[in-house]
Amino acid sequence: MPTDRFDFLVIGAGSGGVRAARFAATLGARVAVVEGREFGGTCVHRGCVPKKLLVNGSEYGTAFEDARGFGWDVDVRGHSWPALRDAKDRELLRLDGAYRQLLARANVTSIEGFARFEDRQRVIVGDVRYEADRILIATGGRPLRGEFPGAELGITSDEAFHLETRPATVAVLGAGYIALEFAGIFRGLGSEVHVVHRGDAILKRFDRDVRSHLRSEMEKRGVDFQLNARVVRAERTSSGRIAIHIEGRAPLEVDVMMHAVGRAPNTESLGLSVVGVAQRDNGAVLVNEEYETNVSSIFAVGDVTDRVQLTPVALAEGMWLARRLFGTEPPGPIDYSSIPTAVFTQPSVGTVGLTEDAARANHDVAIYRSVFKPMRHTLSGRDERTLMKLVVDRRTDRVLGVHVVGPEAGEIVQGFAAALTAGVTKSQLDATVGIHPTAAEELVTMREPVA
Ligand code: FAD
Repeated sequence: MPTDRFDFLVIGAGSGGVRAARFAATLGARVAVVEGREFGGTCVHRGCVPKKLLVNGSEYGTAFEDARGFGWDVDVRGHSWPALRDAKDRELLRLDGAYRQLLARANVTSIEGFARFEDRQRVIVGDVRYEADRILIATGGRPLRGEFPGAELGITSDEAFHLETRPATVAVLGAGYIALEFAGIFRGLGSEVHVVHRGDAILKRFDRDVRSHLRSEMEKRGVDFQLNARVVRAERTSSGRIAIHIEGRAPLEVDVMMHAVGRAPNTESLGLSVVGVAQRDNGAVLVNEEYETNVSSIFAVGDVTDRVQLTPVALAEGMWLARRLFGTEPPGPIDYSSIPTAVFTQPSVGTVGLTEDAARANHDVAIYRSVFKPMRHTLSGRDERTLMKLVVDRRTDRVLGVHVVGPEAGEIVQGFAAALTAGVTKSQLDATVGIHPTAAEELVTMREPVA
């Protein structure tokens, strides 16, 4: 079998793998990256990018309605799902090429195929063996399905991006950010949408005001929430639809059932047991704070480690590791304590730092909260409210958390995330001049804590 040798071999050309490979090559290492599917990984092909494009497309639905309040005589004749889907696919094809070029320009060798370990410094792809001093596992994850009879009738987010037609009725199983984003996408495009969730609230781990505010705003837009709902089975009806049976409730009949109940790390076919890499029960690769596995030549970053599953985190970890392995100066540690995040629901969520409940566990906190009608809706007539919330440590005056539900929440919170990272205090926010008229100015003008 022919053997090729590298300093650094990366398995997976997703967010973390591409970033690690490019940085390592820039620092002088001889690098190859192996990819079994499209270059760019989940974020580019089955995650952030196509999702945001569909959200953008879906948002026009309410924008056309709202325009009437501003004097526009809008007559919407409908929406073509295939046109939106195909436009998105053309963009993804372009990005696949762009990622390949990016790697080539950085002198990284791209290898197409699925890799499996032969030993601690060798992997096999097809019928070629590749040898490297260091190997990085950056194979990401894949969507899980619920476990009940008939679960196989459902799709996951992977297939949702490629549907032939837009379903008239959809049940999304789960209430995490992916479930709610797809609920918003389908609802905005005109589908009847049911969110079916075992738990009693949406968006576990988010601030409680965010959770209840978002739910009520999505309900106003027509999303039906079935919480505390245990699906016992699903079956195909004689008319070709899917009947979802929920314990103690009437069955739901839908055109599409979408599982959005979590993700599993892609480690099954890597042959990790051959090399003795330690894994968690769910298959995630165990790493220490320097992304080292228990095998000295093997490292892992990103979703495959099942810690924080976000693209900017995978990017930061990939870059950190490349610098640590091939740079001259060890990089400073990655700060996981205040990772900002957005949920691209309609309306959207932006959040950074501690939730009120998490903050109360260790701090004496003051809460500042404002709920108001965005200016746009004074004329559009839409009954929508924006939520802004600050969690502040009374003793130090440090701002511990910023939470927003409303238009462009992610764009707003990104700036506040920089302030939080720099240790901003409430007095400093009070001293900040607002930009008028914006929604974000509310975050620097809230003076009285709530009782
Ligand atoms: P991935 O990007 O998953 O890349 C792993 C790559 O490894 C894949 O291309 C895969 O084909 C390849 N691979 C796997 N096994 C092998 C093998 N044996 N050999 C060769 N190649 C292999 N994050 C955000 O920050 N913001 C968002 O808005 C957001 N939205 C999302 C929406 C959805 C629907 C989903 C599913 C995810 C979203 N994410 C979002 C999460 C984000 O996509 C991931 O955190 C990110 O892609 C993780 O990067 P990674 O490098 O760890 O893995």
